[in-house]
Amino acid sequence: MNDTPLTFDFVHGSTEDGPGLRTVVFLKGCPLRCAWCHNPESQSPAVQTFSTPGPGSMRILETVGFVLSPNDLVAEVLRDIPFYTSSGGGVTFSGGEPMMHMSFLKEVGARLKDEGIHIAVDTCGYFDYGEYNRHLRGIVDLFLYDLKLMDGERHRLATGVSNVPIHENLIQLKDSGVDIHVRVPLIPGYTATEQNLSQVAAFVIKHDLTKVSLLPYNPSGIDKWQKLDGVPPIRMPAEPIAIDEYSLWAAFFEDCMRKPGIRIP
Ligand code: SF4
Repeated sequence: MNDTPLTFDFVHGSTEDGPGLRTVVFLKGCPLRCAWCHNPESQSPAVQTFSTPGPGSMRILETVGFVLSPNDLVAEVLRDIPFYTSSGGGVTFSGGEPMMHMSFLKEVGARLKDEGIHIAVDTCGYFDYGEYNRHLRGIVDLFLYDLKLMDGERHRLATGVSNVPIHENLIQLKDSGVDIHVRVPLIPGYTATEQNLSQVAAFVIKHDLTKVSLLPYNPSGIDKWQKLDGVPPIRMPAEPIAIDEYSLWAAFFEDCMRKPGIRIP
C-alpha cells in the first residue's frame, strides 16, 4: 500500500516555524475542522482544485496536492543544509496534521536525522500517543503544539473534536522530555477571550511548559474556501486581529502568566 501523503506546499527559508531558517513541508489531511482554518485545502487528504476567475468566462484551475516521494522529499530538504548550519535551523512538517502520517514521517525523519537535520512537527495534538511512541519518539526534536480552546464543549463545537486527547498528549510529551513550543492562535470570538487565555495560562504553568506564543489570526482561509468552491464556515472571523488588539491580548496573557490563580475564572 502506498501511504505517501500528499504535499500541498513546500517553503524554503521560513523564520516562523521553529528555530533558525526552516524548510517547511505542508502535508494534506487533518482530523480537525476549525471554524477559522487558514488552510482549508489542507483538511482533505485527497487532491483538490483551486478555481479562480480567468479572462472572460474562463476559470483558472490549480491542482492542490502532489506526491513527493520520500527520496525526493529528503533530497529537497537536504538542499538547504547550508542554511540550517548557518542559522541553527532545520525542517518543519506542517499541514494539515502531519501526525496523521506517522509511518511516512518515520521513514523520512530517520533519514534526515542521520544527516543531523533538526526536525520539528507542527501539530494540533490530536493523535495516537502509542503510535507516536512506536514510530517517532527520538526522531522529532521539537513540537510546535497548538492549544486552542480550553473549554471542552467550546472546543468540540469549534473544531469538531474533543480537547481531552490533545491535553493528555501534551502532558505525556512534556513528561517524555521532548522540546515543546506551545502556540495559541488568537481567534476573535473564539480563543481570544479572557476566560480562555486565563485557562491556557493556568494549564501551561501547571505543566511547566516554558515556551508559549500567541499567534495572530489571519483570515486568508476565506479566500481559499472560495477558490475550493466551498463555503467558509459560517462563523469564520472576516478580519485579521488588529495590532493594537493583539498587543492588549499579549499583555493580558503575560499578566496571567505572572499571576496564576488571580485571573482564572
Ligand atoms: S488544525 Fe489547523 S489545519 Fe486542521 S482544521 Fe484546524 S486550523 Fe485547519
